Amino acid sequence: MTDLKIRNIVIVGGGTAGWMVAAGMAKLLRDDDIKICLVESDAIATVGVGEATIPHILYYNRLLGLDEDEFMRRTHATFKTGIEFVNWGRKGQSYIHPFGPYGANMEGLHFHHFWMRYDHMGKAPPLDNYSLMIQAARIGKFQRPDTRQPNSPLSAIAYAFQFDAALYARYLREIAEKGGVKRTEGKIVRVSQHAETGHVQSVSLESGEVIPGDLFVDCSGFRGLLIEQTLQSGFEDWSAYLPCDRAVARGCERVGPPLPYTRATAKSAGWQWRIPLQSRTGNGHVYCSEFMSDDAALESLNRDLDGAPISEPNFLRFKAGVRKKPWNKNVVSIGLSSGFLEPLESTSIHLVQTAVARLMTNFPDKLFNQPDIDYYNRRTQLEYEQIRDFIVLHYHATQRDDSPFWNYCRTMEIPKTLLERLQIYQENGRLYRHDNELFNEVSWLAVLHGQNINPKRYHPIADILPEAELESRMRRMEANVATSLDLMPLHQAFIERHCKSRD
Ligand code: FAD
Repeated sequence: MTDLKIRNIVIVGGGTAGWMVAAGMAKLLRDDDIKICLVESDAIATVGVGEATIPHILYYNRLLGLDEDEFMRRTHATFKTGIEFVNWGRKGQSYIHPFGPYGANMEGLHFHHFWMRYDHMGKAPPLDNYSLMIQAARIGKFQRPDTRQPNSPLSAIAYAFQFDAALYARYLREIAEKGGVKRTEGKIVRVSQHAETGHVQSVSLESGEVIPGDLFVDCSGFRGLLIEQTLQSGFEDWSAYLPCDRAVARGCERVGPPLPYTRATAKSAGWQWRIPLQSRTGNGHVYCSEFMSDDAALESLNRDLDGAPISEPNFLRFKAGVRKKPWNKNVVSIGLSSGFLEPLESTSIHLVQTAVARLMTNFPDKLFNQPDIDYYNRRTQLEYEQIRDFIVLHYHATQRDDSPFWNYCRTMEIPKTLLERLQIYQENGRLYRHDNELFNEVSWLAVLHGQNINPKRYHPIADILPEAELESRMRRMEANVATSLDLMPLHQAFIERHCKSRD
């Protein structure tokens, strides 16, 4: 019988995506018969500005066997409990999208319906009073969840990290190499394909070295060396929904203790991120070139830095969208080569992680069964679309009319899937999590409520509780958050105690 086993895997690219894939595969494919080789070129820079993440990264780090405190020290990481959005709904307003819940669901209904009823009664304090993560972020407190108290908000703490992505890639490289991944330095100058099937057979380096493979993982970044330049897999362009196409990034000195959240401040033609690390603060201005020049974008970024700049500005260009066939023949694209959604909700590194998991689930043999590939591609497309809708919501759900950019975003046509969701919520406050999508009801509520989109009615079943009972439960929940907050240490103190970086 023909040997169908994949024995040679070639990962093209050693940015965050390449090394995440390499470390993940080394861990999951513990088979002496499978060789994994990663090719990267020191002459081609990585993007490496990705610094903010979402809670799912904890699973990846655990899978790789990383000790969390050591990971924090090595990557100069801080904890992240949410994102503060400034000036998005209206200028002068701000809200936090928290990682943990608001209050607690009751009678099988989401908490926010009860809060809305309480609000209709004229008694509700701000929704934020029911979120421990928001309250803690506002005063710079942090701790890991305390599972010994299952009924306390302390047990529901959820967090992610803000870290130096280049240091993360370096750390994962060590793990991957220890796990048997062979790194080859060199620029790929030629790709050979099978004459009949078109499958990639090998890549050739400037040095003349030829690297053959059965399966190729394209982590070559925006250029998509194999998936696009070789296989022309196509790109679905979403720039009509997400028109920002440039960014300029720059680090600055940290001023004051690092805050446990990322800030995204809306500007006249885009937004600026601020990501506090232990060693510095990462900043960047994402903007739309149709409405703002590079010079103006840099000037605006410089003006709003917290501290003195410590790096030269790094300009980047991109287009929002997804590869039409992220897996084509024997090439699977992962990372920026497979698509791009701007970092407003810090999702790119997460998309690398889920792509690795999906590739493992659908791991091929040399027959490369097309229905498996089609399934992988459909799931990838759906995942990108769901995140796209959530990001588009931030731009569209605005009352800003102070610049041509915001006028465009407020009035643009939006995906039907998002329109339907908005129509349902605006009528009766119902929120759904489709098909186990990444962002749950809490996330949608945070952005909708934070950007002044208020439903006409709440769910009728919220009336099931007698008024006095509702009031007593709501008071108890608010008090629980306040008591828990008192018990939490400062974020800075927590880092110093557990995971302060040494350099
Ligand atoms: P790259 O970093 O571009 O790496 C490409 C690799 O391919 C390099 O090693 C290069 O040497 C190699 N290569 C290319 N061509 C060749 C060749 N011919 N021969 C040999 N090697 C080659 N993500 C988040 O999760 N959170 C964030 O906050 C965040 N912020 C971002 C902000 C901006 C402005 C941008 C653009 C992205 C952001 N991202 C963020 C995304 C994140 O930076 C990327 O997803 C991540 O860095 C992965 O990039 P990559 O490895 O796919 O590509």
